[in-house]
Amino acid sequence: MLRIHTIQTGSVSIKARQRHGEGHGGRRIVNTLFDKNWVRVPIYAWVIEHPEGIIVVDTGETARTAQKGYFPGWHPFSRQTANKFLVGPEDEIGPQLKNLGISPNDVRWVVLTHLHTDHAGGLHHFPHAEILVSRKEYAAARGLGGILQGYLPHRWPRWFNPRLVDFTSEAVGPFPASFPLTKANDVVLLPTEGHTNGHLSVLVREEERSIFIAGDTSYTEQLMLEQVVDGVSPNEQIAAQTLKRILAYTRANPTVYLPSHDSEAKMRLSERQIVQGTEKVEAIL
Ligand SMILES: [Zn+2]
Repeated sequence: MLRIHTIQTGSVSIKARQRHGEGHGGRRIVNTLFDKNWVRVPIYAWVIEHPEGIIVVDTGETARTAQKGYFPGWHPFSRQTANKFLVGPEDEIGPQLKNLGISPNDVRWVVLTHLHTDHAGGLHHFPHAEILVSRKEYAAARGLGGILQGYLPHRWPRWFNPRLVDFTSEAVGPFPASFPLTKANDVVLLPTEGHTNGHLSVLVREEERSIFIAGDTSYTEQLMLEQVVDGVSPNEQIAAQTLKRILAYTRANPTVYLPSHDSEAKMRLSERQIVQGTEKVEAIL
């Protein structure tokens, strides 16, 4: 069994309707924007101590979010988010890795599930790692187009020049293609578009189960089981298709499912608690 650590880089308040989308089409996004109910959720990142090298999945958020002007004030989503982060300097992933006895300079790979700030905010701790992002995600998040979609590309480190991932390897269960990260083929990247256009997930295959590091494919395990599309995914159909594939995968393989903002995820990882079946789920598939 690989050693996998959960790192919590502080927390953020998000809209209830960001987790659980309401309505369809453009209305779903508008409903999220005008929702007045906030819920505080953790911001998790993950570290895998693999024989081929240390792998970090997502880098969490930075304490700099507390600085005035960090988010563009003219952007409706960014403006609302600006004062919602609770991240101290010691909450950043760099100091927390050191607490685990791992130097950020010893990290071989940093895989980003997507480029939202609460996943890319700790990038500056990893100038020496090989950083992987899906090609589609990188294209979507760059430049003014990226800022308009709520990314903060102007906050990426100057040296940021990730290796761009194309999914050209074999299908994995319901996922039509994959990208093997390790030679042992036990850590594999999967296309899980929906929450963002180029979102990916990281599948760790242990002998007896899979660990599915999900990023923001859903905000909780329960929402995945209920197949609820979130309130920010640009394309509802694609997000729903990804949720269906994840559910099908967890039905066919014992799987620990780890979304970035699910407060139960840390416990489920340490206890290797797999997704349980329900009658309702069987009816969906
Ligand atoms: Zn996100």
